[in-house]
Amino acid sequence: MESPLYVARPILPDLSQLNELLEDVWSTRIVTNEGPLHNRLEEELKAYLGVPVAKLFASGTTALICAIRSLGLTEGAEIITTPLTFAATAHAIAFCGYKPVFADVCEQSLTLDPAAVETAISDRTEAVIGVHVYGTLCDVTGLQDVCRRRNLRLIFDAAHAFGSQKDGTSVGMVGDISVFSLHATKLFHTLEGGLITTGNPQLAESIRLIRNFGIASEEQVDMVGINGKMSELHAAIGLLNLPLVEAEIAARAKLRQTYDSMIAGRPGLRSQLTQPGVKLSEQYYPLIIDPEEFGRTRDDIYEEFKAHGIYARRYFWPVCSDFAPYQSEKVHSVQAIPVVDKIKDRVLCLPFHSGVKVNHIENISNIMSK
Ligand SMILES: *Cc1c(COP(=O)(O)O)cnc(C)c1O
Repeated sequence: MESPLYVARPILPDLSQLNELLEDVWSTRIVTNEGPLHNRLEEELKAYLGVPVAKLFASGTTALICAIRSLGLTEGAEIITTPLTFAATAHAIAFCGYKPVFADVCEQSLTLDPAAVETAISDRTEAVIGVHVYGTLCDVTGLQDVCRRRNLRLIFDAAHAFGSQKDGTSVGMVGDISVFSLHATKLFHTLEGGLITTGNPQLAESIRLIRNFGIASEEQVDMVGINGKMSELHAAIGLLNLPLVEAEIAARAKLRQTYDSMIAGRPGLRSQLTQPGVKLSEQYYPLIIDPEEFGRTRDDIYEEFKAHGIYARRYFWPVCSDFAPYQSEKVHSVQAIPVVDKIKDRVLCLPFHSGVKVNHIENISNIMSK
């Protein structure tokens, strides 16, 4: 059997280049605490993403926690989000002491449904977290509209949407705050890391303080903070990975076309919604399998792939509302989540990176067309 094929494969820079960058770090011994490489990466990310503020973090989850904390919500506040996301989205809410309330997604985009949000609002609701899941953009206008009318804060978990744009505007510029993960499984990464973008200077200042224990100066601590800082080693990887992103996006865009033509005209199979004016980040290729129409279930395909050393992932099954902590603590799932309940058994993310070769695609195609 061939070597295993995974859903993601991290881009990695030349090791000798990394060594060169690290020589400066070794000579100055400035290894963390907003060091020169860290600050350079923040500047480069601002330029690359076209955003006024980019703050680096030790992980996407820490960034989410700091973003939520920066809103200064009332104790016991509810935050409405989608259950069809990685655990971190819901956990960040609960970890901050707030209550995640799960609402349904739109059938086509699989992102948080503004109408479902509206129904889920209670008198304790203070914020909404939309997730650009698989890189499909949320109904940003719809969510902004609900949040404006009902006086709610709006955060976007943009972990799957690095570099994504709508009509030329960065996804990092919508809502109050956007949070990216720079984990190794993500398109652009720093091994472990996170990133916050915001157009709101006041929030930016709070976020910067919360990231560093709330320390404003040597003599002054302004708020309860955490250690969310990114080290110089991680920043070095980011500086070297950033120029590699475009080539990786191009390779994935080509792979997307190949997968698209593989499933074209096949009953019971669909992929990501095509969104006009959207520049995709090319994070995932989700396949949605209708078992009746296709004749086989998602799990059949998953197992068969696995038997051939192809590790597709059932993102995101189980969904967050299935997790034990959210069942026992009686999180309000105010309403039913019929779309999520259906989709969670149908979605399969295919291997999606520049390491997927012609022979892999043949293999995948053969399994699919059995
Ligand atoms: C990866 C991911 C995160 C968390 O990121 P970490 O950097 O691993 O902490 C948050 N939300 C979503 C949707 C993710 O996929």
